[in-house]
Amino acid sequence: AKEQGGNRYEVADPVADARAITRHGLTNQLPSALEHDEFFIEYQPLVGLDDGTVHGAEALVRWCHPTHGILGPDQFIPLAESTGHIVGLGRWVLERAARQAYVWQTEHLGSGPPPRVNVNLSPIQLQHPELVHEVARVLEDTGLSPASLCLEVTESALIGADEDTLKPLRQIADLGVSIALDDFGTGYSNLSSLRWLPVSVLKLDRSFTHGMRGHAADPVDLKIVGGIVSLAHALGLTVTVEGVETRTQADHLRALGCDTGQGWYYARPGPPDRLHTLRLADAG
Ligand code: C2E
Ligand code: CA
Ligand code: CA
Ligand code: CA
Repeated sequence: AKEQGGNRYEVADPVADARAITRHGLTNQLPSALEHDEFFIEYQPLVGLDDGTVHGAEALVRWCHPTHGILGPDQFIPLAESTGHIVGLGRWVLERAARQAYVWQTEHLGSGPPPRVNVNLSPIQLQHPELVHEVARVLEDTGLSPASLCLEVTESALIGADEDTLKPLRQIADLGVSIALDDFGTGYSNLSSLRWLPVSVLKLDRSFTHGMRGHAADPVDLKIVGGIVSLAHALGLTVTVEGVETRTQADHLRALGCDTGQGWYYARPGPPDRLHTLRLADAG
């Protein structure tokens, strides 16, 4: 029980206590988990809305914990960010995903350009002085073509970003790597910021697709998405939409001119080899 001032006592919440212990334990285990190879990456296909071909995949990290089982990123990324471990973990994800994409690139799967890989960047990584150097080194070490790499940065990480934050992103873009603005539409950013941010892809947050699941799609959602797509295309950006769960959503998004979709309707995140099956299905 915790003392709540005076003589009043609050009964401890055993669930919250267990959570706090777990959080503390997980934080301590992050460095050794990396050493013991407990992290792995699942890849979720990015699919062309017009013809259903697989353009690439987003790398999503998971932790295969020896006692807690498989943990999703929401259970450990915030901890890794608050302790700085995200720098090492993020570097590992980037290296691993780039190596995987190089394998895809050399396998000449299906037709069309080789599949690209999208990697999430934490705002903490964005602040790290070695980031540009690391991206350049990973490209050199793996042999991956820069055009096959896309780094996803959340809209909220760039709100009010100053030149110190944007400079490394510009340098990365100059390497030929594309930058995607993730969770777009949730961060209340000024649409005009798209004019000067070094991004070439907008990833529309799945909250926009939510109202399009049924046949009676929310007309306001349709108008907003249509407007964002026109603006994005006018500025030379491509538009990817997250959280496509139904065929109806995919149909609406295609009609609105969105370029790429990602979501359970196409495929859940899965092992890297699954991309072969999907790409070869495209070609056949
Ligand atoms: P995100 O970047 O927005 O990734 C998309 C999330 O939506 C993923 O959750 C994905 O599994 C989920 N998703 C995919 N399709 C659907 C769908 O049709 N419906 C619904 N409801 N959800 C769908 P996940 O894998 O749990 O990742 C959560 C977040 O963790 C990611 O959100 C990203 O912000 C973060 N994350 C994942 N991997 C990394 C990483 O390597 N580094 C960093 N910094 N963050 C990561
Ligand atoms: Ca993402
Ligand atoms: Ca996202
Ligand atoms: Ca999201």
